[in-house]
Amino acid sequence: MFGVRVRCLGRSVNDSLIHSLQQFFGHHAFRDGQKELVETVLDGQDLLAVMPTGSGKSLGFQLPALLLPGTTLVVSPLISLMKDQVDELNRRGIRSAGLHSALSADERRGLFRLLHSGECRLLYVAPERFASDYFVRTLQEIKVARFVIDEAHCVSEWGHDFRPDYRALRDAAGLCRRSDGRSGRPPMAAFTATATPEVRDDIVHLLGLVEPRVVVAGFDRPNIELSVRPVSGDIEKHQLLPQMVGTGRALVYASTRKKAEAAAETLKAAGIDAAAYHAGLADSERSTVQDRFAAGALRIVCATNAFGMGIDRPDVETVVHLDIPGSLEAYYQEIGRAGRDGRGATATLLWNYVDVKTREFLIDRENEEDAARDGRRPDPAEVARRKELDHRKLRRMVSYADTSSCLRATILRYFGDAGVREPCNSCSNCGRRQPIGDADRLLVRKILSGVARGGERYGRRRIAAMLVGDLEDLPEPLTRLSTTGILRDEPVATVEQWIDALTGAGVLRASDDQYRTLSLTSLGREVMSGKVQDLLIAAPRSRPAPAPRGKRRRLRQEESGGDGESSAIPLTPVVDALRAWRLDEARRNSVAPFVILHDRTLLAIASMLPKSTENLLSIPGIGPAKLASYGDAILSIVATVSASGPRA
Ligand code: ADP
Ligand code: ZN
Repeated sequence: MFGVRVRCLGRSVNDSLIHSLQQFFGHHAFRDGQKELVETVLDGQDLLAVMPTGSGKSLGFQLPALLLPGTTLVVSPLISLMKDQVDELNRRGIRSAGLHSALSADERRGLFRLLHSGECRLLYVAPERFASDYFVRTLQEIKVARFVIDEAHCVSEWGHDFRPDYRALRDAAGLCRRSDGRSGRPPMAAFTATATPEVRDDIVHLLGLVEPRVVVAGFDRPNIELSVRPVSGDIEKHQLLPQMVGTGRALVYASTRKKAEAAAETLKAAGIDAAAYHAGLADSERSTVQDRFAAGALRIVCATNAFGMGIDRPDVETVVHLDIPGSLEAYYQEIGRAGRDGRGATATLLWNYVDVKTREFLIDRENEEDAARDGRRPDPAEVARRKELDHRKLRRMVSYADTSSCLRATILRYFGDAGVREPCNSCSNCGRRQPIGDADRLLVRKILSGVARGGERYGRRRIAAMLVGDLEDLPEPLTRLSTTGILRDEPVATVEQWIDALTGAGVLRASDDQYRTLSLTSLGREVMSGKVQDLLIAAPRSRPAPAPRGKRRRLRQEESGGDGESSAIPLTPVVDALRAWRLDEARRNSVAPFVILHDRTLLAIASMLPKSTENLLSIPGIGPAKLASYGDAILSIVATVSASGPRA
């Protein structure tokens, strides 16, 4: 049997695999992960392969199918995909066929003849075929080399396209006769491009894989720089948008049709070539936009997630998400449309907690509409369960947006890609990691003590409220701790941001459920006790102005989810740039940002836009000393940002 021979031949195995790769597929080398797939399948070990679309997964079963005696069955849910692959294989001289509902009676007879002849290397089958008695009888008459399940995530309700038929595949495999004459079912190999931890578990258990080798590879897209940029709201998003889309091809994703339209309008108003794309457009309009973009005649498309399926322009340089997407899977797929040519590209998520509410609303509505569309009387329990699944996916996405640890590592870890190297140094969080200063270290220790004193039973909102002494709505035990009010001079939003940063730095841990209960990690305990002093942390970007106590309640309400930025400060690009500079300066000098410049002063600068040192000196809070230290820097920030950006 070839599978066995392959094991013993050592080096020449490699040569013979490469030889087949060249001879039948015309490729000169294996891609990342491919050889592992091929070897596992040849070995007869069960396999779960998780690799992105286009990475060359099919070779993992096609090449072994060539070399093994018997027919390899490939379950595939899409007839069109099946036809493409079968045609391609036959063109390469590999006898293959596809069994699906679109075959004529003649074609079907031909196919079964081919199967019985034993000449068929690969048989592609639609999952619902296993319900046919005739096919099942045939299965028992032929010799099956391997049982392959493509798009294996379809077995899981966690995946994006659950197929009940997939649940029958475990039994179907059990009916097959092995081509090597051994007892038991043939070895199984499952392939998918999307397998989050839940989906992976489902695949293994529901398909009945036995001690499978799990190969996850190829998810990293190192040429795409990832960033998350907190924004105060829609006004700021639209101010930023024209500069964010750069000068090359770009995709802008929005959560609703209206928002996609609005983004296109903003860009057009700024003289930038852009069009909206969403399911509400007429078919003809949609295909015009798609065609123009595909042909390179249109630079920017502002779309809902309806866009992109058929688009494969290699030179998309920028992807901007105006609103948080519904899941990390969706996000990664959408940003994956950037940088296909391997050149540097950027993917930026504009992040405002308020947008989560929109997503939550969309999730509930879509699930109800789907249920209503199914025709049958919707089962309320089933609808509720689906909603819950989607809300959990959204929460994973929110924790990406929230995290202060490496964005790339966060995504890759989520997909189970073993190749995580942290820090990646090409994401916005890695770019911001800095050693923590003395003042901040004290703040951090107070926060950690607060979490510990609270018995590690509360989430971010409550802990932050307790620390700043905002007692309204607090559970009674939190109102009388030694840490209650210990940070009364900090705005609650700042404390919440620090909590996020600490979670990201692995100092605090947030539970995975909806409560996101905070607890200390072992590193956290060492930092709290002062045993660990050095901490690399992507500290909160800026400290909103401390609100007077009377105002705090109002502020908190506006920031219902604690979205981070105090809405008391209007965020213009100049304010933003000044704060970023101030934060740098503060860190360099290990002082709090307000020591460099007060928020009042910063705001006065942003509204006056001074052009000279005289102008600057007339601003309250800027005396000769500040002028000497920071005058040049401030003037140059004001000059560059107010000239280049949209009007501040
Ligand atoms: P997937 O199933 O992962 O979406 P495919 O198997 O369809 O990906 O392969 C995507 C493309 O990559 C195909 O055009 C295929 O010919 C090509 N390809 C696969 N393996 C190699 C390789 N080792 N070298 C070069 N091209 C390859
Ligand atoms: Zn990183």
